[in-house]
Amino acid sequence: DRLVRAFYQGSRKIEVLNGASADIFPGQAVALVGPSGAGKSTLLHISGLLETPDGGRVIINGRDCTGMPDAERTRVRRVQMGFVYQFHQLLPEFSALENIMIPQLILGRTKKQARQRAAQLLGSLGLADRVDHRPAQLSGGEQQRTAIARALANDPRLILADEPTGNLDPHTAEHVFDALIHLIRTTGVAALICTHNLDLARRMDRVLRLENGMLVEVQPLALR
Ligand code: ATP
Ligand code: MG
Repeated sequence: DRLVRAFYQGSRKIEVLNGASADIFPGQAVALVGPSGAGKSTLLHISGLLETPDGGRVIINGRDCTGMPDAERTRVRRVQMGFVYQFHQLLPEFSALENIMIPQLILGRTKKQARQRAAQLLGSLGLADRVDHRPAQLSGGEQQRTAIARALANDPRLILADEPTGNLDPHTAEHVFDALIHLIRTTGVAALICTHNLDLARRMDRVLRLENGMLVEVQPLALR
C-alpha cells in the first residue's frame, strides 16, 4: 500500500503527489485529509489501481501491483478491494439486496451464498427491513450504508472511500461513519477514507494529511 509520485499531464504538467508514502494495516480505519486539490482522490485512485503513478509502487497484501497487466489489476481490484463514493452509484433497477449480490456473483459465489452474505451485511448495517427497496426508495443515509455493504460484499482486504458522507447531513453522516468504522474493526479490513469533515476524521484510528504532495501523520485528537 505504498506509493510515491504522480503527475497529471495537461497543457501544463503539475506534480500532485511527491513522496506520499504510507502503510495501512488490517483493521485500521485511516482518514485522509487535506485541502481541496491536495491530491486525496488522486491518491485513492492510484491505491485502487485505477490510475498508474509516474513513479513509486502500490503494494496490496504484500504484492507489488504497479506493473500488472490490466486484467490482473481488475482481478486484484475485484477480489481485494471495495470502493465507496460520495454518491452511492448503486444500480437503480436492482434492490439493495441484489446490488450487494451482484459483485459476489461476478466472483463466482452461488446465488444462495451471495444472498446470505448480502442479507447479513445489510442486517449489520441496520437495513434488514430495506433489502427489497430499490435505491430510489432509500434515504441518502440508507443508500450510503447499502454502498458500504456492497464494498464489503466480497470480503476485501482494503476499502477505499472518497467522501463517503459528503452529501449527507451531519447527523446522518455521523451515523453512516460509525457503521463504517464498526465494520472495519469487526471485519479486520483496512480502510483509507477521504473526508473534509475533521470531526469524523478524529474518530478514526489514524489520520494522514496530504501536504505538498506528501503524507504527514497527524494525531487524531490533535487534528484541527
Ligand atoms: P477535493 O478535496 O476537492 O476532492 P482532492 O484532494 O481530491 O480535492 P484531486 O482530485 O486528487 O484533489 O486533485 C489534485 C490535483 O490534480 C488538482 O489540482 C486537480 O486539478 C488535478 N487533477 C485531478 N484529476 C486530474 C486529471 N484527470 N487531469 C488533470 N489534472 C487532474
Ligand atoms: Mg477529491
